Amino acid sequence: MKIVMLGAPGAGKGTQAKKIAEKYGVPHISTGDIFRANIKNNTELGKKAKEFMDQGLLVPDELTLDLIMDRFKQDDCKNGYVLDGFPRTIPQAEALTKALTEAGEKLDYAINVEVPDENIVTRMSGRRACIACGGTYHIVFNPTKQEGVCDACGGGLVLRDDDKPETVAKRLTVYHDQTSPLIAYYKGQGILKDVDGTKDVAEVFNDIVGILG
Ligand code: ADP
Ligand code: ADP
Ligand code: ZN
Repeated sequence: MKIVMLGAPGAGKGTQAKKIAEKYGVPHISTGDIFRANIKNNTELGKKAKEFMDQGLLVPDELTLDLIMDRFKQDDCKNGYVLDGFPRTIPQAEALTKALTEAGEKLDYAINVEVPDENIVTRMSGRRACIACGGTYHIVFNPTKQEGVCDACGGGLVLRDDDKPETVAKRLTVYHDQTSPLIAYYKGQGILKDVDGTKDVAEVFNDIVGILG
């Protein structure tokens, strides 16, 4: 099963992608997580990506494509994957289509998690990320059992630098300009499925399972 998650930053793509990965036994591939791991490890890629991420801008397609094409070669991608945060531009989507077509493969679904902009700032300002495992929580909507401590690994939780309100506003503009055209792109491929992302986490997942079967 090959799935793409679409939706604004903070729509709940990552939260749902993790649950899909678990239920259907495919890897969850988040380009944002891969960039953050590179930043943490101070790699060349991380240094380049950070300049853009801190400003709420997209990392250039070239860098992103090199990274993701490399990731697809790993063994765990044999039975598919759930892509979270990629593609984010039309050229990225076209490169993905081309790579899949050349391999005689195709995407099964693009799941578009719909959440209005008004809800996004609340989602992002309450988001907390584990510095150790990347797990994501929300102080109100999805709290950890113990405040400030990751349920999964016991790591410490932080507010991501790019989740501060001024950067969130920039990321939303970037989303509308560069990423939202992917909705029409995948509608054109006949694989777009919209879900109402304003429902609670379990209900959204239930709707997605209804689509994936
Ligand atoms: P969110 O989950 O809030 O949407 P991500 O973790 O997916 O955020 O991405 C964080 C940042 O990483 C983005 O704002 C962007 O700078 C960069 N990024 C992630 N994926 C891509 C991509 N496919 N193309 C370009 N930049 C990306
Ligand atoms: P994305 O990957 O699209 O940027 P996340 O999955 O990281 O979004 O979710 C953004 C924030 O909103 C997180 O703090 C998460 O815990 C919370 N969240 C995710 N889904 C829901 C939901 N259905 N209702 C309320 N809060 C949610
Ligand atoms: Zn953790």
